[in-house]
Amino acid sequence: MNERITPLAIDKKLFKQIGYRLVDDIAEFFDTIQQRPVTTGESPKQIQALLHQTSLPQNGMPVNELFTNATALLLNHSLFNGHPKFFGYITSSPAPAGALADMLAAAVNPNVGAHILSPMATAIEKQTIQWLAEFIGVPTSYGGLLVSGGNMANFTCFLVARTIKAPKSIKEDGINNDVQKLTVYCPKTTHTWIEKAAVLFGLGTKSIRWIDVDNNNKMKNDILEKMIDDDKQNGFTPLIVIGTAGDVSTGAVDDLKSIATICKKHDLWFHVDGAYGIPAAVVPGMQSLFDGIQEADSIALDPHKWLYSPLEAGCALVKNPNHLTETYSSHPVYYNFSNNDEPATLNYYEYGLQNSRGFRALKVWINLQYVGRSGYEKMISDDIKLSKLLYVLAHEHEELEAISQNLSIATFRYIPPEIDKEDNDALNKLNEALLNALQHNGEAFLSNAVVNGKYCLRACIVNFRTTEQDIHELAEIVVRTGRKLR
Ligand SMILES: *Cc1c(COP(=O)(O)O)cnc(C)c1O
Repeated sequence: MNERITPLAIDKKLFKQIGYRLVDDIAEFFDTIQQRPVTTGESPKQIQALLHQTSLPQNGMPVNELFTNATALLLNHSLFNGHPKFFGYITSSPAPAGALADMLAAAVNPNVGAHILSPMATAIEKQTIQWLAEFIGVPTSYGGLLVSGGNMANFTCFLVARTIKAPKSIKEDGINNDVQKLTVYCPKTTHTWIEKAAVLFGLGTKSIRWIDVDNNNKMKNDILEKMIDDDKQNGFTPLIVIGTAGDVSTGAVDDLKSIATICKKHDLWFHVDGAYGIPAAVVPGMQSLFDGIQEADSIALDPHKWLYSPLEAGCALVKNPNHLTETYSSHPVYYNFSNNDEPATLNYYEYGLQNSRGFRALKVWINLQYVGRSGYEKMISDDIKLSKLLYVLAHEHEELEAISQNLSIATFRYIPPEIDKEDNDALNKLNEALLNALQHNGEAFLSNAVVNGKYCLRACIVNFRTTEQDIHELAEIVVRTGRKLR
């Protein structure tokens, strides 16, 4: 095997040929995305049929054909969250530079678990973390790492919180929560990650204290404090309080400052789930909304949401980086990673749950430099303005009711003249049917929220392609589709 030819190799000429065409196709796709349907609305069966029923190929196929085929399948049968009329969930349009960055990252393929395996990539991730801290307005002394998304970022912080605040033997002895009775506190609006975390890290879902929210979907902090007091009196051991900076349904931001005060008083870990909303702190006029974030022991945020990174990129930040290594570091004999002269060598496997790690930071790092703080400030404040415009349009339209507006999320519902505004049952049914129709017809894509018992249509604008015209057209599409359903 002196001149080894492996089936996987692609010679330089062919690589360029396929690569150039792929880049041409992607450039065309980005340029025409607004002319395509947001989704084809095909059923899982129809989609599966396109792949044909075949077993694992015995032998290889020409790679250029494979790319032709894969490109056609994906560009003709996908939902495009980069479409200017995609407003569902919290899934942003991907920055084109991020797509290129992912290709470069995959080509170099650094394993960002250890510095020695990824010298430049580790340094870039470290700088990215520092910039993200600056972005959201916390000191750059926070430490952290990139993970796959908001769930993983919250899990990463949760286990740190458990390690630091629970009885000190927890790492060795594990948890026995019917005896230890460790509890965590979060607003009722908290994303489902908290239940997975309670299961995953052994506290059990009964340890979660779901705190009521007010009419604006903010945690009622007086009830929070009373619950903590009651639990202490009843032999429970409160550990963690979670505040939300932008809840998934309506974008509400908790009163973080007063949660921080409660945490200090009771010596609890203060975690902020800012997966969606915390990047809005880059907008000068919005900063006061996030007052108290500087006191968070840990923060989760999602560059693959409002920072427009292609999936996947989440980020966990921890105020005292030593708490990360106290939780995650171990030194097996087969790792020869720490005999570097520099004491500050950062091996990211010691900071989180992953061992081998991909180079997620590159796309985030490139975008942060491509548009800078001012670019993000502009894009994020434009998204907020568009969301407010939608709220106003819904408010002004006779057949729409505006329900809520926070950050870049507006909720509203369709109300035909013949249904009484108070008849929530009929309106909930109609709006659910309306949402289903909208999610399949490809003109615009919304998701839903239930706000004070009202089934609402929900538009979250984390989309740098959306224009005022798209918002006006969205209102028309909703009303036209609603009228058809009556
Ligand atoms: C999106 C979101 C999550 C989950 O993040 P993923 O990236 O989907 O894992 C958690 N919390 C909040 C507040 C979110 O907006």
